[in-house]
Amino acid sequence: MRLSRYFLPILKENPREAEIVSHRLMLRSGMIRQQGQGSFSWLPMGKRVLDKVCKIIREEQDRAGAQEILMPTIQSADLWIESGRYNDYGKEMLRIRDRQDRAMLYGPTNEEMVTDIFRSYVKSYKDLPLNLYHIQWKYRDEVRPRFGVMRSREFLMKDAYSFDIDYEGARAAYNRMFVSYLRTFARVGMQAIPMRADTGPIGGDLSHEFIILADTGESAVFCHRDFLDLPVPGADTDFADDAGIDGIVKAWTTPYAATDEMHDENAWEEVPEGDRMAARGIEVGHIFHFGEKYSKPMNAKVTGPDGKEHFVSMGSYGIGPSRLVAAIIEASHDENGIIWPESVAPFDVALINMKAGDADCDRACDELYDALGAAGVDVLYDDTDQRPGGKFATADLIGLPWQVIVGPRGVAAGEAEVKNRKTGERETMPLSAVAARFG
Ligand code: ATP
Ligand code: MG
Ligand code: MG
Ligand code: MG
Repeated sequence: MRLSRYFLPILKENPREAEIVSHRLMLRSGMIRQQGQGSFSWLPMGKRVLDKVCKIIREEQDRAGAQEILMPTIQSADLWIESGRYNDYGKEMLRIRDRQDRAMLYGPTNEEMVTDIFRSYVKSYKDLPLNLYHIQWKYRDEVRPRFGVMRSREFLMKDAYSFDIDYEGARAAYNRMFVSYLRTFARVGMQAIPMRADTGPIGGDLSHEFIILADTGESAVFCHRDFLDLPVPGADTDFADDAGIDGIVKAWTTPYAATDEMHDENAWEEVPEGDRMAARGIEVGHIFHFGEKYSKPMNAKVTGPDGKEHFVSMGSYGIGPSRLVAAIIEASHDENGIIWPESVAPFDVALINMKAGDADCDRACDELYDALGAAGVDVLYDDTDQRPGGKFATADLIGLPWQVIVGPRGVAAGEAEVKNRKTGERETMPLSAVAARFG
């Protein structure tokens, strides 16, 4: 992509309304635009990151055995009346009426709808376990929408729902999602710590929040330093091996970790003082087991091996990809801008032509652009006529992992400079070696 043709509305000034660094940097680097209270458009640069995050989430959901569907955003109130949640949900739910004056709502979550799908088709234990997920916009009329896409009213959520014949099966489904989340957050370059969490309005008795530590996080959290060194399960993890998966969950739930609602002072006292991390955290994911909470009132049951009917035991598993993008920036930036982890970077390389219009520089950059493209590298080519200083500032702000810098002196010597955005390390190499360096 040539920057001269790319829709990248960079802001020179710090937007006043942005209280935290991720919100500031997302607005400044032209990733998002605010459209209303808690409502944002994703511009090309932001959309690329969001798509990369969603792709990783999908791959890890699929690997763990979940299947993707897509449910509507607008739901009928009837399902929620059936589950008993229509009144309980309160003001966070956006309630709408259609032209026939039917009560509708913009979904804040999808337990009811997915339970309705399930009960319409699945009648036997032989069709279990089943886990269905989608990535869809949600609406919650938050009391205090703030911090940009971190707490917005319309936001993207990956929500998965598991169905099993009994508690044992549901527990295994919960464990698979737990491990899938460990892999997902590690792959987007984050260290997310699973913490025992309150089950809140969804109810149930088993729940973990996945928390990224950051000073600007809204929750106070308490955890053992050991989490920082726990190995993340590899791509070869066998999700069909219940005992193996359970072992991973045990390892990741043994050190102390709790959000403030679940914090237990006595247990905390037992953690050696030097190992205690009392910090702020951002909730990027949340998994629940809630058993028959919806299957019972909504009559979702299957015939078991005993020939009897059983209400299915369910769980739900959420990740907020839009919040996660902001959380990644909170955890990975410096005073000059964003530092994207390679796995979610909108482009791999910023190719900087220090003297656009100079025939030799243009030719060298065009050749590099083609060679990098042919090697499968995503390049944002700064071919604009801005001053070099401005180009460097833009490249640092948008935070692509690598910068390839081409100027008249380098070209004369047949060389380019390669800079690592994270470490600041620079390396000079022959122009002819650049594509192979990244390909
Ligand atoms: P919070 O405690 O921050 O209000 P929640 O507990 O209400 O979040 P869940 O119902 O657990 O959220 O939803 C699953 C995930 O959806 C959350 O872990 C978070 O990543 C994301 N999410 C929830 N609310 C928002 C929001 N207002 N804006 C962006 N993402 C959100
Ligand atoms: Mg909430
Ligand atoms: Mg919460
Ligand atoms: Mg939650």
